[in-house]
Amino acid sequence: MFQLDAQQRELRREVREFVDREILPRSAAYEQSAVFPKALFSRLGELGYLDLSFYHQRPGAGHGGIESMIVMEEIARGLPSMTLSMSPHVQCMNLIGCCGAQSLKDRVIAPAIRGELLLAFAISEAAGGSDALGIDTMAVFDGDAWVLNGEKCWITNGSAADGYLVAAKSARSGRYRDVSLFYVAADTPGLDDSLRVSLIGMNNSPTGTIRMENCRVPPDCLVGRENDAYELVKVLLDEGRLDMAALAVGIAQGAMECTIRHTSKSGRYGRSLASYQGVSFQVARMYEKIFVARNSLYTVADMLQNQQRAGMEAAALKLYASEMCLEVCRAAVQLHGAHGLSQYSDVDRYFRDAQMLTIGEGSSEICQIVISSKLYHAEQRGDGPCY
Ligand SMILES: Cc1cc2nc3c(=O)[nH]c(=O)nc-3n(C[C@H](O)[C@H](O)[C@H](O)COP(=O)(O)OP(=O)(O)OC[C@H]3O[C@@H](n4cnc5c(N)ncnc54)[C@H](O)[C@@H]3O)c2cc1C
Repeated sequence: MFQLDAQQRELRREVREFVDREILPRSAAYEQSAVFPKALFSRLGELGYLDLSFYHQRPGAGHGGIESMIVMEEIARGLPSMTLSMSPHVQCMNLIGCCGAQSLKDRVIAPAIRGELLLAFAISEAAGGSDALGIDTMAVFDGDAWVLNGEKCWITNGSAADGYLVAAKSARSGRYRDVSLFYVAADTPGLDDSLRVSLIGMNNSPTGTIRMENCRVPPDCLVGRENDAYELVKVLLDEGRLDMAALAVGIAQGAMECTIRHTSKSGRYGRSLASYQGVSFQVARMYEKIFVARNSLYTVADMLQNQQRAGMEAAALKLYASEMCLEVCRAAVQLHGAHGLSQYSDVDRYFRDAQMLTIGEGSSEICQIVISSKLYHAEQRGDGPCY
C-alpha cells in the first residue's frame, strides 16, 4: 500500500476541511448556475492550491506530484468541474514554466498561480479526435509574429480562459509530428472563443470551440522548440490521465460518502438500508475499488515525479479509475432509489459528471491501445517484459 508521509496526510486533512466548509454546502447551487466559479478559483489560488507542479518541475513550485493528486482528488469530492478546469490550467502553467520564454513566464505564471488568470489546452480538432496529433491548425512565421489559423474543439475552460496553449502544425513538410505549441491570449485579435458547448455534466467547467483567424502572436509565445511538441504532448497526456484518475477517485469518494449517509438513516420498518447486507456489501465494494484506484494513483504519480516514463501505467490507471468511478456512481444512484434520480441530488451530479471520464484525455479504448501495444511491442523489440 502506498504510504503518504505526515505532510501529505496533513495536506489532505486541510483540503478536505476546506472542501467541507466552503465547497460542498454550495455545490448544488454552483451546478445550477452552470458558470465557471471564478471567485472559488481565485480562492484556490489564494490558498496555494493552484501552485501544483508535476513532471515539469518549476523552480519553487508549491506542491509536487503526489500533493497535486491529493489536492485534485479532494476538490473533485466537492466540485468535480473545478478539478476538470484545474487540470489543463496546471498543465499549461507547468509547460510554460519549464519550456516557455522568460518574458512569457513573467506575464503568465504568477497570475495563473494566484488564480487571476485561467489557462486552457487546445489540441483536439474535429477531424482528429482520439488521434491527438491529427492537427490541421497551421502556424506560419510572418516577419515578426507567428500567424495561427484553425479551429479547436471540446476545449476545457473554452470561453472562460484568459489564454490558450494551442497545438499547431508549424512546418509544411507534412511530417505528422511537426507540431509546436503556442500561447495565444484570449483577447488576441482573430480569436473567437464564444462558442460554448452544453454537456450532460461538469456544468461549472465550460467546454468550448476556439476559432483562430490570422491570430498574430509574438515570437516569445512559442512554447518549447519549433516542430518539437510531440514529446511534450505525450508527457502531457500522461499527466492529464493522472488528473482524470484523481478526478475519478474524488467523485467516487463523494458518491460513496453520500451513499453511506443515505443508507444509514432509519427506514420505514425501523431498519436502515445499511442493515441489509445486500446494501452494505455494495458499499464495501465501492470502498474496495476506490482504495485500489487511489493507491495506484499515488504509485503512478510517484513514478512521474521521479521522472520515470509511465505511459502504460498512466493509461492503465486512467482506464481503471474512470470505469471504477462510473460503476460506483451507478451503484450510488441505485442505492438512493428515486431520490438518486432527482435533478441536482448530489449523487445525480456525481453520476452525470462521471460520464466524461471514460472519453476525455484518452478514451477507455485508446488507453487499451496504449497498454496492449506496449505489452506486445516491448516483447517484439526484445526489450524484455514490461509487466
Ligand atoms: C470532458 C472533456 C474535456 C475535454 N477537454 C479537452 C481539452 O481541454 N483540450 C483538448 O484538446 N481536448 C479536450 N477534449 C477532447 C478529447 O480529448 C476528445 O474527446 C478525445 O480525444 C476523443 O476524441 P473524440 O471525442 O473526437 O472521439 P473519437 O476519436 O471520434 O472516438 C469516438 C469513439 O471511438 C473510439 N475510438 C477512436 N479511435 C479508436 C481506435 N483506434 N480503436 C478503438 N476505438 C477507437 C473512442 O474510444 C470513442 O469511443 C475533452 C473531451 C471531453 C469529453
